[in-house]
Amino acid sequence: MAKRGNSIIKGLEIDEIIKVLNRAYADEWLAYYQYFIEAKVIKGIMKDAAIAELNQHATDELRHANMVADRILQLGGTPLLNPKDWFTHTNCGYEEPKSFDVVSILKDSIKGEECAISTYSAIADMTRDKDIVTYDLVSEILADEVEHEEDLQALYEDITEFVTDIKSSLS
Ligand code: FE
Ligand code: FE
Ligand code: MG
Repeated sequence: MAKRGNSIIKGLEIDEIIKVLNRAYADEWLAYYQYFIEAKVIKGIMKDAAIAELNQHATDELRHANMVADRILQLGGTPLLNPKDWFTHTNCGYEEPKSFDVVSILKDSIKGEECAISTYSAIADMTRDKDIVTYDLVSEILADEVEHEEDLQALYEDITEFVTDIKSSLS
């Protein structure tokens, strides 16, 4: 535990920060697995572009899990030790792919990113001017989540537009 490092935290209970970071940690692992498995099962038009994006996001979510775990340890906490705890601590849950169609998979993933953005934005609000290190960390992750949402949304729009064009050229 970083003694002097933690002494600079003002006006926030360290246990409370650890608690919210562990919830985010659960989210990151579930997001990682969601992208991992989506990239495996996805089917349909322009799926190669989607697979590249999903795999890149999986890598990012795992990196986020690493960053959050390291911060929890610095604060003197313990990252969740059992995957069962991911489901009881998660903010954003897990969106099991019900349909493997590219459009449906992208919709599920966009929902996840929207939730991640809300979650990190709330932690940034909570830690601003109080725990600078956690604030910087969640701001960095938040920027990635905003990029994720944008990438998925752009891909979703390209694909749905392409499908509309094909349909109108056939009619
Ligand atoms: Fe993430
Ligand atoms: Fe993300
Ligand atoms: Mg991306």
